[in-house]
Amino acid sequence: MIRVVIIGINYMKACRKCLIDERVPDVFIDSGNVCDYCSGRRGDDWESRFHVTGGKKAALFSGFEDYLESIRGRHPYDLVLSLSGGKDSSYLLKYLTVQKKMKVLGINVSTPFESKKARTNLNRLKNHFDFELLVIAPGREFFRRFYSGLFAHVQKEGYIKSVCDVCNPFIHGKCLQTAVEKDIPLVVCGAAPGQPYFMFYELPESELRKNWIPDFFHSPGYDDYFMSRFWNVSESPQTPVPRLLAPLHVMDYNAESIRKELADGGIIPYKDSHPAVTNCILVQVMMVLDIRRNGINPFLKDFAAMVRRGESSRAMWKFLFTLQNWLVKRNLFSPAKIRYVESVLGINLRKKF
Ligand SMILES: [Zn+2]
Repeated sequence: MIRVVIIGINYMKACRKCLIDERVPDVFIDSGNVCDYCSGRRGDDWESRFHVTGGKKAALFSGFEDYLESIRGRHPYDLVLSLSGGKDSSYLLKYLTVQKKMKVLGINVSTPFESKKARTNLNRLKNHFDFELLVIAPGREFFRRFYSGLFAHVQKEGYIKSVCDVCNPFIHGKCLQTAVEKDIPLVVCGAAPGQPYFMFYELPESELRKNWIPDFFHSPGYDDYFMSRFWNVSESPQTPVPRLLAPLHVMDYNAESIRKELADGGIIPYKDSHPAVTNCILVQVMMVLDIRRNGINPFLKDFAAMVRRGESSRAMWKFLFTLQNWLVKRNLFSPAKIRYVESVLGINLRKKF
C-alpha cells in the first residue's frame, strides 16, 4: 500500500488545496500548485451557477413551494417525480408526499443497468408512501441500440460525459412525455446540486422545445419508432410543455443527512442508500473506461468542488483515486460488471483498454 501512495504522489499534478488535476479540461495549476478555482483567479466559476446560497437560494425555494401550492389538486396528478431508487429522489418523494401532500406519479425508467439495490429501494418506497409508481421499461434491445450508438460516438471528454448527457435527458424525456399525455404540469427530478451539468434548478422552456434526439441517431439503422421514444416537441410548438425542476438545487442539501433520515424512518437502510450500491452499473463501468482513456476519474471535478466547499476530505479522495487507478490499470476494478455490460451491449470493452 505504501508503494501505491508513492506512485500517486509522483503521478498526480494536482492542486494542493482541492486535488483538482490539470488534466481536467480548462483547469490551470500555478507554480505554487494551486488551481485557479482555489486562487480565486477564475472569473467563470461554474460552481457559482450551481450552488446558490443565502437570500437567492431562499427566494428560489420559496418560489418552488408557492408553485406547489398553486398546482395542488388541479390535475389528475400534481406532478411527475423521476424515481431511481437512489437516496435523492427517495428523499424528494418523502418531502413531496408527506410534507407537501402532493399527488405524485412516480416514474422509474428501467434500464438493463439498474442496480439490484435501487430496484429493492423502489419496492420499499411503495410500502411507505402514498403515491403511484409507473415503471417504463423500453427493453433490452432498445437500450442495446441506444448505448451501442453512444459508445460508437464518444467525445474527447470521455464515456461518462458522452453517454450520461444523452441518457439523462432521455429519462427526463420519458417523464415529460408522460406528463403531457396525462395533463400533469410539473416534472420533478432528484438531481443533487451540481448535477446534471446542463441545468440549474429549472430547465428553461426554450431548452424543452429543442429536439433531444442526438444527430447520429438520424441514420438508416434507427427507425421512426426508435426516435419516437425521445422527447421532441420541436416541430409542434402548440404542445404545452410541463415545467422541469430540480428542487434539491435550492433546498438545504446534505447527502449524509438524507441517508440518515431515510434510515431513521425505516424506509431505506443506511447501507443500501450509498451511491456505490444504487448507481447505474453502466456509470461504474464507464468510469473505468474513462480512467483508462484520460488517466483521471471523470468525477474529479465534482469531488474537488466538494473539497473546496469543506464537505469532503482531500486526503480521502487522494487515497481512493490512487487505489482506484492502481486497480483499473490491473483490470481488477469491477470485472464482473464490465463482463455484464459487454454481454448486454454485445461489445468487447476490454478491447478498448
Ligand atoms: Zn484547487
